[in-house]
Amino acid sequence: MSQIRVRFAPSPTGFIHVGNARTALFNWLFARQRGGIFVLRLEDTDIERSRKEYEERLIADLRWLGLDWDEGPDVGGPYGPYRQSERLEIYAHFARKLIDSGQAYYCFCSPEALEKEREEALARGISPRYSGRCRGIPPDEAMARVKAGEKAAVRLKVPEDGQISYYDLIRGELVFDLKLLGDPILVRSNGLPAYNYAVVIDDHLMAITHVIRGEDHISNTPRQLLVYRFLGFEPPHFAHLAMVMGQDNTRLSKRHGATSIDQFAQMGILPEALFNYLAFLGWAPPEGQEVLSREELISLFDLKKVSRSAAIFDYEKLYWLNRQHLKRLSPAEKAKQAHPFLREAGLLPENMTDDHWSWLEKAVDLFLENVDRLDQLPERFLLIFNFSPEDMDSEAKDVLAQELSLKIALSFCQKIKDLPEFNLEVFRGVVEEIKRETGAKGKSLYHPIRVALTARGSGPELDRLIPLIEQGAKLSLPRPIPNCGQRAQRMFSFLIEKYRIKNSGQH
Ligand code: GLU
Repeated sequence: MSQIRVRFAPSPTGFIHVGNARTALFNWLFARQRGGIFVLRLEDTDIERSRKEYEERLIADLRWLGLDWDEGPDVGGPYGPYRQSERLEIYAHFARKLIDSGQAYYCFCSPEALEKEREEALARGISPRYSGRCRGIPPDEAMARVKAGEKAAVRLKVPEDGQISYYDLIRGELVFDLKLLGDPILVRSNGLPAYNYAVVIDDHLMAITHVIRGEDHISNTPRQLLVYRFLGFEPPHFAHLAMVMGQDNTRLSKRHGATSIDQFAQMGILPEALFNYLAFLGWAPPEGQEVLSREELISLFDLKKVSRSAAIFDYEKLYWLNRQHLKRLSPAEKAKQAHPFLREAGLLPENMTDDHWSWLEKAVDLFLENVDRLDQLPERFLLIFNFSPEDMDSEAKDVLAQELSLKIALSFCQKIKDLPEFNLEVFRGVVEEIKRETGAKGKSLYHPIRVALTARGSGPELDRLIPLIEQGAKLSLPRPIPNCGQRAQRMFSFLIEKYRIKNSGQH
């Protein structure tokens, strides 16, 4: 078989959403696994809705996801141009051929007349279809009207009877009655080609062997097959992917949550996690493996095993996968991924020194545990950045409600609040002293100390937290981190005030 060539052909009319991204990904996986060529083609002939910024966003989103293409508008290639708006003469050429061979004709119907026809059909409860009114205009007469400047669209002359069928790699044999098709427009009166026509010319001229796309295009396929037939082109193989639905079995939309690639990026979903999850929309690896890299997916993916039933988008599953992919990153990569989120939250500077990075690596290592998405990180980091005895959480208040705990917290604060240097060694010494003085140990010893240093009832181990606080306090940050001594001073004054303890008695 000749080299496999597939394409992803989005219209730059909006942000790229999950369903389209999955289509791109399946094409890419198929090409990469078969040593084929993956083409990016922009179908931008809807001039009212297509925008340059969508095009740029689309390319950036696909690249973020980890896709690359061998041919496309930005990388060139032997079958270009890869933007439909730059191929208008090619479409005009083949439209003329179809007219000359009597397989297409000029249609002079005004939009108003067509709309009226449509409404009448709907009112009669039948699906609207062009009546074929201009079919009967003799070709010479039609040509003369066009030459005289009259506006005309070009329509395909669909045979009135018969069927057309093809074998869909996912759906199997599909058969369509030609009489239901109506004569589709190939080229609009403004000279721009219609999707069903341009897609055929391009897929043929770009030597596409497999068209893998969304199921919403199944009904377009018979029209496209006729164009192939009339022009004497060999059609490619077709594979139509089932739709992506929300948990409630309706088509995935904004109502269900994030749907566009850039939204997932903003939530702190790693591209490799989204990639991994998108591959599972309609396909599953043979042995039920879950956390897979791009390379693993390339070797496991099987177009023949793609399901024909709708894929349900499960956000929780995506978050779980993201967590697994986050865990796989090296400490330096974790820090790099986390930085934009913490910078955005005003916790870290834009320009990071080596000290910042080494601190961040340790901090991320601690706080990333139990985090599904990177956008949840700033809140976890506040445990270090925020210290406010006045806003103590209820668990911490409950701890201090016990006399012994309050005594331990006060004693701890008093012992460290004026120390010139505080580190883990000093910390352990102070804890030992308190243990001797009070006889407390285990949770009843450490719990009040945690409250003294964080004003919270729970959090990471103190042995890991204290070095982070101390090192963080030495960094230049948009919002400084109070060190343990400063925390102890503030907590001490707060407790004295709140519990009306005689300060003098403490000295
Ligand atoms: N521009 C079409 C779309 O975005 C392409 C469909 C196709 O792959 O043929 O839906």
